[in-house]
Amino acid sequence: MTGLPVWICDRLALFAAPRKSLWSRAVRCGRIGPEVPMTDQIHDPIAAAFALQAAGTVARRTGFGLAERKAALIRLREVLGRRQPEIVAALAADFGKPETETLLTEILPVRQDIALALRRMRRWMRPRRVAPTVATLGTSARIRPEPRGVCLIVAPWNYPLNLALGPLVSCLAAGNSAIIKPSEMTPATSALIAAIVAEAFSPDLVTVIEGGVEVSQALLALPFDHIFFTGSPEVGKVVMAAAARHLTSVTLELGGKSPTVIGPGADVAQAAAWVAFGKFANAGQTCIAPDHVYVHHDVREAFLQALRARIAKAYGDGASPHLARVVNDRHAGRLRALLADARDKGARIVLGGDGEGTRLAPTLVEAVTPEMRLDQEEIFGPVLPVIAYDDLDAVIARINARPKPLALYVFDKDRGFADRIIGATSSGGVGVNLTLLHYSHHGLPFGGVNNSGIGAAHGEFGFRAFSHERAVLENRFSALTMVFPPYTGRVRGLVRMALRLLG
Ligand code: NAD
Repeated sequence: MTGLPVWICDRLALFAAPRKSLWSRAVRCGRIGPEVPMTDQIHDPIAAAFALQAAGTVARRTGFGLAERKAALIRLREVLGRRQPEIVAALAADFGKPETETLLTEILPVRQDIALALRRMRRWMRPRRVAPTVATLGTSARIRPEPRGVCLIVAPWNYPLNLALGPLVSCLAAGNSAIIKPSEMTPATSALIAAIVAEAFSPDLVTVIEGGVEVSQALLALPFDHIFFTGSPEVGKVVMAAAARHLTSVTLELGGKSPTVIGPGADVAQAAAWVAFGKFANAGQTCIAPDHVYVHHDVREAFLQALRARIAKAYGDGASPHLARVVNDRHAGRLRALLADARDKGARIVLGGDGEGTRLAPTLVEAVTPEMRLDQEEIFGPVLPVIAYDDLDAVIARINARPKPLALYVFDKDRGFADRIIGATSSGGVGVNLTLLHYSHHGLPFGGVNNSGIGAAHGEFGFRAFSHERAVLENRFSALTMVFPPYTGRVRGLVRMALRLLG
């Protein structure tokens, strides 16, 4: 086992204050120095996993190049391929996710991430030349994307495989090591992710630490070089506060209430098909699912009719094998409480509203008003409020009165209608005449804004999230020496001339 450099012990000591035994061990190892085997110094498995990776940070800067990164991604792809049937079974066990949805929304995106990284990594990694400016004439400038170091990936339960391994692909492509904390709410998939990672990687490169909030918080106390968190805005704040203690950079992929606006000129059949797919895939447990729909009065009736027909065709009576379950009893109870609150305050459930245990039928609700919880909280389940409107400005005002959403969808054949809404609002991403699909375009940054997230993922954006862009300026024949002190009259004249010409 590698010895632990003193600087890592110093960093460990920073977070160890509340964890007395670890503190004393870290201090001790600082005194003993780098020759002592690490296992003698740190027994806390979480800190040990971190220290093991941190010990390799410097070596990875030169030893984890293009060939090694590609080999790591190919290993991951091989293990994923071999274990595909187990992945399908784990997601079915965790929340009855249909096989086709698992292939489409869990496995395919990760395989696409890997394929894209294998194709483009060489280009992403290449230092970018930057043209000289007048003030820096005589120098050459470049931006070097460099690995950040040891990264923490904290994943949610709703796309448990995709949202743990997708970021890992970007993390490895950028040359980092990673500790992954999958969600405790999908135990079969989390255990499988741990097995996949253990088969594909040695723990000094990637390791999985399973557990709930306590484990997550113990990890967040460590001085990681970057944290990539996917989850709720509430926990995002906890993550950012923990990261602030070490000034660790963060990417926060969060959630919120993503609105959909159906214009008077919408193709209602098309809108209904996309909204039903976006809302009821994964039983509505999708960060970018349409949370609620504003539909223009002129097309309300036709849209509702088309939506009912679409739901009947796709899911029958709601006990369909094509519809995933709600993840657990707590969330099913939460959704039923949202519906009860809305009903008590005057909302009309026009479809669904029933279902046994964690099976909830696709549900449509009308007459939803701002004082209902359904209108205030992220729904995150197969319940869709449909709100009729006449005045688009009032809809825009309602969208702008809320925290900026992760996604916003607009349906209308008139391009100007969508442009008006896009121009007057803010959101992480926008879909026009579609839902969810923008997630799959790896040339687009995927992420939120403020309450719905900070930073972006996917393709080169993911690579950059896990990279430090280091500025390098090299002197060839810079003229700055002409204004070095002493500040003689000639120097003062030159500076005044520079102010005139460059300022
Ligand atoms: P969550 O925030 O409850 O949990 C996410 C992760 O954080 C889990 O691994 C969990 O163990 C950990 N965690 C929970 N509470 C914690 C705490 N107090 N301190 C430290 N760690 C803690 O989210 P979830 O319920 O798993 O997922 C649903 C949320 O995630 C929704 O808001 C959804 O919109 C959002 N989401 C966003 C994206 C995206 O890409 N932007 C994708 C999927 C889900």
